[in-house]
Amino acid sequence: MLMLQDITQLRALIRQWRQAGERIAFVPTMGNLHQGHLQLVDTAKQRADRVIVSIFVNPMQFGAHEDLDNYPRTLEQDCQGLTEHGADAVFTPTPQLMYPRGLDVQTYVEVPLLGDYHCGASRAGHFRGVSTIVTKLFNLVQPDIACFGQKDYQQLAIIRQMVADLSMPIEIIGVPTTRADDGLALSSRNGYLTAEQRATAPALYRTLLWMKQQLNQGISDFRTLEQQAKDQLAAAGFKADYINISNRQTLVPATDSAAPLVILAAAYLGTTRLIDNIEV
Ligand code: AMP
Repeated sequence: MLMLQDITQLRALIRQWRQAGERIAFVPTMGNLHQGHLQLVDTAKQRADRVIVSIFVNPMQFGAHEDLDNYPRTLEQDCQGLTEHGADAVFTPTPQLMYPRGLDVQTYVEVPLLGDYHCGASRAGHFRGVSTIVTKLFNLVQPDIACFGQKDYQQLAIIRQMVADLSMPIEIIGVPTTRADDGLALSSRNGYLTAEQRATAPALYRTLLWMKQQLNQGISDFRTLEQQAKDQLAAAGFKADYINISNRQTLVPATDSAAPLVILAAAYLGTTRLIDNIEV
């Protein structure tokens, strides 16, 4: 697997692949790769001739009091996993390379409306950071397709909208969430959990499954159901950030089940913030 740190090398490789008529798939990540990420690589590999992965802990998408400095960086282990899964190249830029003029004066991309609720409401500027770095990486890699996890449901919706709105000729593939045997969605942030918190963590997905069951049985008072779910999570030891039964297309909190629904959730175990979702 080729390891690339600079833009000239990256562009030369992409040009070479293009000239050979090869179809290019791209998987952007922040590293500390687990089976969920590797599932994206496998999906990318099935759909293209070449797979390139980026590993970049993007400072622009972290809030002032978030875990940017502590975010796990495990490049050697990541490259081993990527090699085993047949990735052709990994691009690992530095913040200096991505934001040479600094974050304050960086041009940014912001998708309206879809980021108004859920993580967008709790993490000001987060999705602007995501949309901006994904745009930059798309411009560098110019892939035919790009794979994103459904685990970050709101992020996936925002990227799809951005690609449509800005006429980017890239097919976005949403990949189902990879879970541990006990149901916990795999996440780099799971590594922050103590053994006790890790034992509690699957309650988040269990609560979403319970809510889905209630909705399928015809429960229509969404706000009461959300509150009951928060109470269940609190009893298990979580502090819920949000649990929102939402319209799957607009991601606006839903008032009736006329449109397809998705339940989006974020909750803290100690200082670790976990997110998950389920379509209904
Ligand atoms: P991250 O490194 O957390 O920014 O994630 C990089 C990509 O991997 C994103 O598209 C995530 O949605 C995806 N991803 C992370 N965890 C999972 C998972 N458990 N299942 C599927 N995709 C995931």
